[in-house]
Amino acid sequence: MNAPLLEIKNLQTHFFSERGAARAVDGVSLIMERGSFLGIVGESGCGKTVMALSVMGLIQSPPGRIAGGEILFEGRNLLALPPDEIRAIRGKEISMIFQEPMTSLNPVFRVQDQIIEVLEQHRKVSRKAAIEATRKLLHQVGIPSAEEHMRDYPHQMSGGMRQRVMIAMAIACEPKLIIADEPTTALDVTIQAQILDLLQELREVYRCAVMLITHDLGIVAEVADRVVVMYTGRIVEEAPVVDLFEKPLHPYTQGLMRSIPGSRASRGKKRLEAISGVVPSLFDLPRGCRFNTRCTYAFERCFVEPEPELLTVEKGHSVRCRLYEG
Ligand code: SF4
Repeated sequence: MNAPLLEIKNLQTHFFSERGAARAVDGVSLIMERGSFLGIVGESGCGKTVMALSVMGLIQSPPGRIAGGEILFEGRNLLALPPDEIRAIRGKEISMIFQEPMTSLNPVFRVQDQIIEVLEQHRKVSRKAAIEATRKLLHQVGIPSAEEHMRDYPHQMSGGMRQRVMIAMAIACEPKLIIADEPTTALDVTIQAQILDLLQELREVYRCAVMLITHDLGIVAEVADRVVVMYTGRIVEEAPVVDLFEKPLHPYTQGLMRSIPGSRASRGKKRLEAISGVVPSLFDLPRGCRFNTRCTYAFERCFVEPEPELLTVEKGHSVRCRLYEG
């Protein structure tokens, strides 16, 4: 099959309230190939999680609604499929790992029963085979003495172990795409590194693609092939990870770099620099470039002309900024 694994075209996901429509995802287009590892980076409220939930068919309506665009998975537009077909794809072909496993794991069921349920539902295996597969999965995601922990309830496990259980559930059906939304944010640094290594390893074993959503550009440097940087619902830069770190183009990406300890952009500085100002409200976006209220390079055209388009400046590297026009 020649179609990319995932192609998002001009996605518009809006939330409606008395204040009006908040365009949380506003015209996002991207492509993921099979087996690729894509990092989606941006501050909270930039639309990265809403985009992922849109792919999963998990936007709560109301107040949310996908107002336009297409989400093509192996060429099929997920937005046009009936709910039962979406349910069949979710968990089996595309699975998601959330930041806080306690919100996704059911506290009143044993860990093994929650994984078994996924296997029985999507793989139609016998109970005996599902129990054996669960034991193997828990072992594979690095739960020590998996046999002993299978009958634990989620609250009996550490945060790192719960996240491993979530990962076991996510890979149970050998999906083609795993979406991991801030999977390490709630964990301490050592466990963070282990979970990232595990995602890398599983990607190689299962040959699945991974979309890693994070506010931390330092994390994607270690694992991703490509990076998409989002701001106020828009992609502002996209590049292979090496190019982005060698030559970040957008002033916002450069600001994110300066806030990473030990990065090239922060080297020699006594203190890490934060990006000045705050992310504008989606109900009250600035005229012109949406980053103009925080940008140290802003000039007159950034305020008076319409928002810049996403420009490809070199192969595979695009940026939404007037500094690169012409
Ligand atoms: Fe800054 Fe202007 Fe570029 Fe926006 S278009 S990022 S305000 S220089």
